[in-house]
Amino acid sequence: MLSSSSNVTMSVAAIPAEGAARHGDLKAITVNGQSTSYRQLWDETRAYAGALRARGVGEGDRVAVLIPNVTDFARVYYAVLSLGAVAVPIHALLKRREIAYMLEDSGARLLVCAAPLLGEGAAGAELCGIETISVLAPGDLGGTRLEDLAAEATPIDTYLPRRPEDIATILYTSGTTGKPKGALGTHVALLEQANTLLLDTIDMRRGDKIFGGLPLFHTFGQTTVLNTGLRVGAQIMLLPKFTAAGALDLVLDEDIDLFFGVPTMYVAMLEAGKQREGKPSRLRFGVSGGASLPVSVLTAFEERFGAPIHEGYGLTETSPVACFNHVGRTPRPGTIGTPVWGVEVEIADPAYPDQIRLLPRGEIGELVVRGHNLFAGYLNRPEATAEAMVDGWFRTGDLGTKDEEDYVRILDRTKDMILRNGYNVYPREVEEVLISHPEISNAAVYGVPHETHGQEIAAAITLEAGSALTAEAIGVWASEQMAAYKFPRLIEIVKEFPLGPSGKILKRELVAQYAEQAGQP
Ligand code: AMP
Repeated sequence: MLSSSSNVTMSVAAIPAEGAARHGDLKAITVNGQSTSYRQLWDETRAYAGALRARGVGEGDRVAVLIPNVTDFARVYYAVLSLGAVAVPIHALLKRREIAYMLEDSGARLLVCAAPLLGEGAAGAELCGIETISVLAPGDLGGTRLEDLAAEATPIDTYLPRRPEDIATILYTSGTTGKPKGALGTHVALLEQANTLLLDTIDMRRGDKIFGGLPLFHTFGQTTVLNTGLRVGAQIMLLPKFTAAGALDLVLDEDIDLFFGVPTMYVAMLEAGKQREGKPSRLRFGVSGGASLPVSVLTAFEERFGAPIHEGYGLTETSPVACFNHVGRTPRPGTIGTPVWGVEVEIADPAYPDQIRLLPRGEIGELVVRGHNLFAGYLNRPEATAEAMVDGWFRTGDLGTKDEEDYVRILDRTKDMILRNGYNVYPREVEEVLISHPEISNAAVYGVPHETHGQEIAAAITLEAGSALTAEAIGVWASEQMAAYKFPRLIEIVKEFPLGPSGKILKRELVAQYAEQAGQP
């Protein structure tokens, strides 16, 4: 492992730079049938960097990037990093005030925004008085275009080397409550993560076609797909907007080798797989993370698409992967696998927030993580950083256990656990049971306040197409499957779930919706 006190230098921008030298004419990124080779990607990145440099961007400056999953995301992201500046990727669906909050909080010097998002992006930038530069503009929209600036500027020769602990990215993460916090990602954490995944964890190969439907502004897509894929010489098949049918078409028509997704994407793929026949010819495996993957989904995916899913676990703060069902080792469905190389994952007693008291194997507690993959804290939030980083360990806020062979099982977020009549109920366990019903396609279980029980168990459920199941019938069935303290009393059938930026179900929104319906404050 590289020590941050050494005088080693490095940069995440080495990924495209070295990619050009190593993989030259191989395809690096493909979007809507248009491919960019490794050589082109680096040349275009250098040109964009030249343009940004001419605009005054330099070492340590923060540049916000509001671009969906298209090649320009990579060009701009690496251009910023190659100048020694800090990239602040922003979720493409945010509205102007949310964008303005991130621009202000991060102290962004300017915003690079995809033309189709200029309505909200430029308005957000205006709210805090910073400049917007557009990419992908059709030309007649006015404003400053990065392409035009690049045509006039001199491309940079190469990237500016950084110290390992220098900040590369600020990724906004909502955590469980409160306003999004900017997690500071270091060059060493991001590079070590890509190396670790390639050498230890995932069997990703040069020339592999990688499914690129995970949003690149989020740590999962950014590190495991973009940085890791380009490090090894893979071809990233970007999907600008995820739809199940679009994803399935890509997998089948383009002979995808590796699929990366969050569980809701796997559920959606299974649905789409009922409308279109055919099995992928080259798919070796899928990677799931970001939320727990029901075992029934894993099994159904393997049956339908002929490839296993390896589940992993991580957070924005752990850059992201901490545990993984390593490819090459037998996956253990229902677990998040074992810690990845160079990373320790232990179970700590959640009753002691100010110190780390490790618990013996088998006991339930809070997952804590230590290793090269940790972030450098939350921007401008020393208190939140101090709460999260205790004695060199990062407190994840997730509950789990670890067995004798180091396999870790996630129960839930500490805050999602439901306490009903004094019993601990782990939503994930209840969801697994609900989803095992042949007519239930997905379920989200959450706790709501209750006068006598403390909390009551609620479930939002989506049904398979054509099912006429009622909430009442589900309630009766569920009560036969689970102990009385566990089964959901409040069941609602929904058409879709509120989803977070990376496709995860937002339980706090379900709780808020319930409170609104019930007339609670
Ligand atoms: P984010 O920072 O957006 O990546 O969110 C991190 C959170 O996602 C973690 O704290 C977990 O609660 C959740 N998470 C990630 N992977 C898994 C998994 N395999 N199973 C259950 N929860 C997960």
